[in-house]
Amino acid sequence: MPQQPAPKRIAILGSTGSIGTQALEVARQQSARFQVELLSAGRNAALLIAQAKEFKPNAVVIGDESRYLEVRDALFPLGIKVFAGATAIEQAVAMEDIDVVLTAMVGYAGLRPTMAAIAAGKAIALANKETLVVAGELVTRAARAKGVNIYPVDSEHSAIFQCLAGEWDNPVEKIVLTASGGPFRGKTKAELAAVTREQALKHPNWDMGAKITIDSASLMNKGLEAIEAKWLFSLNPEQIEIIVHPQSIIHSLVQFRDGSLKAQLGLPDMKLPIQYALAYPQRLATDWPRFDFTQYPSLTFEPPDMEAFPNLGLALEAMQRGGNAPCVLNAANEVAVEAFLQGKTSFPGMSDMVADRLAKATFVASPTLDDLEASDAETRLAARESLKTTPWSS
Ligand code: NDP
Repeated sequence: MPQQPAPKRIAILGSTGSIGTQALEVARQQSARFQVELLSAGRNAALLIAQAKEFKPNAVVIGDESRYLEVRDALFPLGIKVFAGATAIEQAVAMEDIDVVLTAMVGYAGLRPTMAAIAAGKAIALANKETLVVAGELVTRAARAKGVNIYPVDSEHSAIFQCLAGEWDNPVEKIVLTASGGPFRGKTKAELAAVTREQALKHPNWDMGAKITIDSASLMNKGLEAIEAKWLFSLNPEQIEIIVHPQSIIHSLVQFRDGSLKAQLGLPDMKLPIQYALAYPQRLATDWPRFDFTQYPSLTFEPPDMEAFPNLGLALEAMQRGGNAPCVLNAANEVAVEAFLQGKTSFPGMSDMVADRLAKATFVASPTLDDLEASDAETRLAARESLKTTPWSS
């Protein structure tokens, strides 16, 4: 019998979120292959404690320091180390016993821990797309310098990565990122002014955290994914095409220089790309539901509606400009999404806020990490101020 490889020792940053809990489902089902070494959460102490009791990691980190004692009192007697605060997450990823770090925190908060994990030479399973949007050049340069691999978790990027397997020496002509179109596909700009938070949080095909669900409804998510793809696969913006495919069965495609297109298909289920990223280069057996062609007699495609969903154009423009523009886009968008979820702006108001920040922010052509920190902070401040003075409810 062939010998089983030693289990991969994994860290899950954002273990209490949508990707984090699905990653733990994978770890539960593949318990011989994965050993959970580190879990981190933002504020959900109760779930973090329950996860740690089940998976018995070496250590956990709770981002919110006010919840430290609660977590420590529950886990210390079990011999699990407990830390708190943002800096502790950055330090913990460097622990010796970790092979792969799954970055499943949401938003800009994922950047520093990802950089710290790369500096410590850990392989990265990257869900936190905002990291590459904000600092793609610095992150990929650091990864190359350290010889660290970044395995995509986003389903579209996983699809492209799977299509590229065995094709590493063949130049890519273009990639095609598919988009479901979200819950508001087909609506006009005027109709979008009246949509509610509850409607926006109902994605037709995927069950995800609140921020990415709103980003999917506004098509910002596809713009962020285009920037993520540019860095992951060393592409020019012109090599990235976006097509709406409402069934979310074709997860993305690669076109090679002979004109051949390769696609990766499957039912929409994030466990597959999560497992692929963690187990790469192996494919592990699963009993998840299989795709049935007879259930999907037609797979359809249409161009994205750039007029009704200006966020996509704004993101593509920021990608073209480069420098700190994607960082500004991301920060303004994080504030806009938060404001929309709190009922402080309309749905189209989010794009207006982002466009306003992109137009007014100081451009930095070759930003350092400190420049990006400053751009992020300035943009958030200005965007929050603008909420007090401008009725972003067009
Ligand atoms: P969720 O909102 O469901 O989860 C976010 C996780 O990050 C939670 O564990 C949360 O902790 C933690 N977190 C949030 N802020 C902080 C912070 N400041 N410090 C430490 N931890 C923090 O998000 P998703 O799982 O949906 O998404 C995670 C990332 O993966 C995003 O970047 C998203 O774009 C990407 N992604 C998600 C997909 C999906 O299907 N969900 C698909 C593809 C990519 P707590 O809840 O305890 O506060």
